[in-house]
Amino acid sequence: MDHSLAHKFLLFSPVDSDSSIRNLLRAKTIGRGLVMKFAPRMSRFKASPSQIASARVRDMVANGHDIVKLTAGEPDFPTPDNAKAAAIACMDANEIRYTPINGLPEMRHAAQFKFKRDNGLEYALDQIAVGSGTKQILFNCLMATVSKGDEIIIPAPYWASYPDMVQLAGGTPTIVNCSQNNQFKMRPEQLAEAITANTKWLMFSSPSNPTGATYSLDELKALAEVLAAHPHVYILTDDVYEHLIYDDRTFHTLAEVEPALYDRTVTCNGVSKGYSMTGWRVGFAGGPKDIIANMSKMQSQSTSGSSAVSQAAAVAALTGPQEFVVERTANLQLRRDILFDKLNKSKGLKCDLPGGAMYIFCSCAGNIGKKAPNGKLIETDEDFTMYLLNSVGVAVVQGNAYGLSPFFRASFVAPEADLIRGGDKIQEACAALS
Ligand code: PLP
Repeated sequence: MDHSLAHKFLLFSPVDSDSSIRNLLRAKTIGRGLVMKFAPRMSRFKASPSQIASARVRDMVANGHDIVKLTAGEPDFPTPDNAKAAAIACMDANEIRYTPINGLPEMRHAAQFKFKRDNGLEYALDQIAVGSGTKQILFNCLMATVSKGDEIIIPAPYWASYPDMVQLAGGTPTIVNCSQNNQFKMRPEQLAEAITANTKWLMFSSPSNPTGATYSLDELKALAEVLAAHPHVYILTDDVYEHLIYDDRTFHTLAEVEPALYDRTVTCNGVSKGYSMTGWRVGFAGGPKDIIANMSKMQSQSTSGSSAVSQAAAVAALTGPQEFVVERTANLQLRRDILFDKLNKSKGLKCDLPGGAMYIFCSCAGNIGKKAPNGKLIETDEDFTMYLLNSVGVAVVQGNAYGLSPFFRASFVAPEADLIRGGDKIQEACAALS
């Protein structure tokens, strides 16, 4: 026991080490100064549910349980070789110091080039933001622009971080429920109904996490028409799943579909999903100069510029050969089909084939109200996912984490053998309910 430390922080005089320990324990409960009063903002959002689910699974695996994990939120392919080589060259050249807050010039050029090549969008260099992941880019944008009273439209099911980020920024999420019978897509009339004088942003993502909903050109045009009629609404599109798109679909983004929206759209993207580079933490955006400048200002007092090594890798991925992206997507499509078939043949489950991303958002409505073999009633999607985990060792994430119940999200980023085994186990668990 370090008496001087105990004395300094606990405001009592230790007599001997035993009583010091006793006092330490007592101080935990009575010492006023020891209980941290957390900032009110901390109660405005929750920890990521998929990360909680992953941690639970990690604990079970560490304790010897055989778990089939259908929770992955990242592709399982390696980082492209040219990106790795660029990172190594960057380290070898010792170009690993602080970087400009808003990205290295090479990275901003690469993002500019990508927007033009893939999306037909032209941005000047001062219209490009670079940060440590798409998530940070979205966060910077909301923190820089949202005030109390601002409403942000979020179609549900949504990526769990959206409403929490909005609340953290002090805004109010306006949730628009998008039903399974419209493949979880927002209809133009729903968007029109949700817009008020206080609407600041529409937060939009296609393909979507958790549903894989992928809007066609016509569907985007219909939404764009509504937005064009409401010039006070800004658009924050999260295109991180752009390249994970199936069945010969073509990707489109709102600023490209309707040029009238260009001046009020921030188009966000990153290398995480399309290039399997989640851990490198590079995201970027194109948008109006003043918004980009304020996003950069926000970043200047948090993380500063993204790592030089990561940016070097991202530049190589974005500007190098792109054929492998298509091959990887074809591989993911095969895995999607395996899991889809298994889920749809399970009693009480119903899902549609997702057009993009890496997830199937499956209804378990047919199993709500049923009883597990141990007599436990399945009342919610959380009960159902816990039942799958505890009875057959399959991990998925409950739909309420994404704003729609009773559903669950199953990721098809898993080895084929696991998709088959996991799917069979889900069928077995569903058949055992009565
Ligand atoms: N946007 C969506 C919809 C996501 O699902 C995720 C990650 O799961 C992200 C953004 C985060 O992307 P990044 O790794 O580039 O921060």
